[in-house]
Amino acid sequence: MAEGLISVDDHLARILAEIEPLPDFPQPLMDALGLAVAEDVVAPIGLPPFENSAMDGYAVRHADVVTATEESPVHLPVVGEIGAGQATLLAMSPGTAVKIMTGAPVPAGADSVVPYEWTDRGVAQVRIERAPSLGQHVRPAGEDVAVGDLVVSRGTVLGPRHLGLLASVGRAAVRARPRPRVVVISTGSELREPGAELGHDSIYDGNSFLLAAAARAAGAITYRVGIVPDEPREFLAAVHDQLVRADLVITSGGVSQGDYDVVKEALSPLGTVWFGGVAMQPGKPQGFGHVGEDRTPIFTLPGNPVSSYISFQQFVLPALRKLMGRTPYARPTTPARLTHPIRSPLGKRQFVRAEYAVDPAGRNGSSVTPVGGHGSHLIGDLASSDALVVVPEDVTSVAAGEQVQVLRLDEEF
Ligand code: AMP
Ligand code: MG
Repeated sequence: MAEGLISVDDHLARILAEIEPLPDFPQPLMDALGLAVAEDVVAPIGLPPFENSAMDGYAVRHADVVTATEESPVHLPVVGEIGAGQATLLAMSPGTAVKIMTGAPVPAGADSVVPYEWTDRGVAQVRIERAPSLGQHVRPAGEDVAVGDLVVSRGTVLGPRHLGLLASVGRAAVRARPRPRVVVISTGSELREPGAELGHDSIYDGNSFLLAAAARAAGAITYRVGIVPDEPREFLAAVHDQLVRADLVITSGGVSQGDYDVVKEALSPLGTVWFGGVAMQPGKPQGFGHVGEDRTPIFTLPGNPVSSYISFQQFVLPALRKLMGRTPYARPTTPARLTHPIRSPLGKRQFVRAEYAVDPAGRNGSSVTPVGGHGSHLIGDLASSDALVVVPEDVTSVAAGEQVQVLRLDEEF
């Protein structure tokens, strides 16, 4: 490891040790979309809940119609009619038929349904020209889900199909951990809000959008706070104003060795935030700790946009996932073949912006091509990348054609 630096793995381990999942509580189904369920949900009813018809037709006793053919049809009196949700007739006698609609309960005494298409659609009497097999077009109760079946297991990230199933078994709410509320604060007296006038010495604040969007994409509710100038008192006031609505705070800028490193200057005296160097490139200057009475976790990320984003991927994303009860915490790597050689500093883990591609012929697996330069201010290159090549600490060069490990930035995991 490069001297005086903490490793990426140790820094992440320290962070995760300080993060506790948010407490779960019952949430209305639609609010739980995309959240990890915090209970094992067992079906309180079966699906279907009762035996019902799969077709519009006639409920019959199989034995009564078994001989029916077009040449020799069977005639049965129609003794009633059942629509879905209006079951008044609960039983029928042998030798009769009941008109039945899809989804309506099959009356006791019937065991099969003859679809309209095999009949003359008779009202008082029906002519049946073809026999269903025993039980045909009848959906048995509990065929799909039995009472007591595990329908969604703890930890499942709820998607539309899970919500559909939960609603179908009658659940209006489900226990889940909430979305973390994340406050993002950009620091820098040179920053301007997009849309505002730009001076000769100012730049637009890209980071608060980059970080807030990344946090939202990870499942958080984000509050993007306006720009805070390099003025420690204003910065501290901004942080304290925001704490009421924050489960986690992210700041950008002001953590390196300069004269105006506002975040470091303001938070160091509290003694609750660690500042130091992590053995990575980009993203060396980092800070993590907690602020306020509730000991709200705070990440103080470096100001260079690429450093900021890569730090988010490495440290903030796993913390957010732990808060939400989602595993794995860290984004998994996938192997790919490197198309161009890269160099890397000894003792630091390097993250190289890159484009990932799957060989369409499928023969060579997937490849990864570095994009642009190394500068951590190059947000243009970052935006045209969809992957990061991870070069381990002890590796100083990788030749074209070698296999590397890649973080695919837009993949769900
Ligand atoms: P700092 O860590 O505050 O010294 O910032 C490092 C570099 O990143 C400087 O060139 C800043 O101008 C730039 N920078 C800091 N914050 C932002 C931001 N929110 N958006 C874009 N660039 C930034
Ligand atoms: Mg700054």
